Amino acid sequence: MDLNLLFKISHGLYLTGARDDKKRLIGSCVDAVMVAEVAPAQILISMTKMSYTCQNVLKTGFLTLSVLPDDTSDDLIKIFGTTSSQNTDKWAKTNYDLMDNLPVLRDAVAGMLLKTVSRQETTTHYIFLCDVVRIQGNSNKNPMIYANYQKNKENKKMSENEKWVCTICGYVYDGDIPFEQLPEDWVCPLCGEPKSVFVKE
Ligand code: FE
Repeated sequence: MDLNLLFKISHGLYLTGARDDKKRLIGSCVDAVMVAEVAPAQILISMTKMSYTCQNVLKTGFLTLSVLPDDTSDDLIKIFGTTSSQNTDKWAKTNYDLMDNLPVLRDAVAGMLLKTVSRQETTTHYIFLCDVVRIQGNSNKNPMIYANYQKNKENKKMSENEKWVCTICGYVYDGDIPFEQLPEDWVCPLCGEPKSVFVKE
């Protein structure tokens, strides 16, 4: 059974926001979210039981959801997706607004305050059914699609592994911009020859 096929079911990327017992701002990155119904507005969110944010949402019953725009930085996703709020202040370097005292990403396509009404426990996750208490948004932005995010990540990784070498002087390009995206009038910083004399190794 190829479980990777499960990721062909399209979904987005989101931040949750909440507070812990000490009133600290906490949060996490989630991808499994769906609108359960529109009137009254209810949303389903699946969160891993190991998440500190999940453990606190179990206690308080309140959280926010921020729909990430497609230009969200990798750094933000990395902070919210790979560190724990238990020992990291994930919101410290992020612009946010408060919704009933809970953090919502300022740049979010949509931000909402949620109240959990019931939950289903699976082996590894809690699936929360939530009422949408309030919602605000930025309709000019496009939401991030999880599959696109993964693809961009792969492309970036591939271009990081590529080596472009000047056939005249042997200079190896090591700039931050992917070589193919450099302007056409870019020249080798060592010998001054044009981009066209470079080959991929
Ligand atoms: Fe050169």
